[in-house]
Amino acid sequence: MKRRIVFATGNENKMKEIRMILADLGMEIVSMKEAGVDEEIIEDGMTFEENAEIKARTVSRVLTNDIVLADDSGLEIDYLDKAPGIYSARFAGEDTSYDIKNRILLDRLEGVPDDERTARFVCAVAAVFPDGTSCTVRETIEGQIAHEIAGDNGFGYDPIFYVPEYGSTTAQMDPEQKNLLSHRGKALRAMKRILEEKLREEAL
Ligand code: IMP
Repeated sequence: MKRRIVFATGNENKMKEIRMILADLGMEIVSMKEAGVDEEIIEDGMTFEENAEIKARTVSRVLTNDIVLADDSGLEIDYLDKAPGIYSARFAGEDTSYDIKNRILLDRLEGVPDDERTARFVCAVAAVFPDGTSCTVRETIEGQIAHEIAGDNGFGYDPIFYVPEYGSTTAQMDPEQKNLLSHRGKALRAMKRILEEKLREEAL
């Protein structure tokens, strides 16, 4: 039986990006939903890495023959002691719109000069293998909190995340450009290199 990669997410946008980046591994890539898994995942880790591994382990306990991947990501704002961090999705309430979440963050940074508005998106990707071993990678994209909301692409905090080298927020970039620079794109490509190495070793 050909081994699959199962990604522990229910988010279809993430799945599209993941399929694109991992396509040439030559393995079937499915979401946990497509694999028929509906486990409740309790993200109680204290770091992005821990939460990514918790997600992957929870699904791996059910799908013991598959390689299970999971990610965890968020926005760290230095002026706010790295908040919202691992609580990015829950910040100001899970059901609060990002338009409101972004306005709250802009208000908290009102009057703060550019050199103190530094921030980064962080993404950890964890893999749990059928033999129970695991590994985790972490990547970031560095930027600043903008002074106002700008751009319609992307999601979440993209409209307030300004990348000085590009003179735009990540919400003003097209998806291909964002994938090349983003925390998630970089972490998935790093994980892909680890998987390629692992598959090469297994073929020996
Ligand atoms: P999770 O990784 O699915 O738990 O999501 C973490 C949260 O971090 C998302 O709901 C967004 O609020 C935020 N986030 C993570 N990556 C990005 C990004 O690329 N753009 C904007 N917001 C992001």
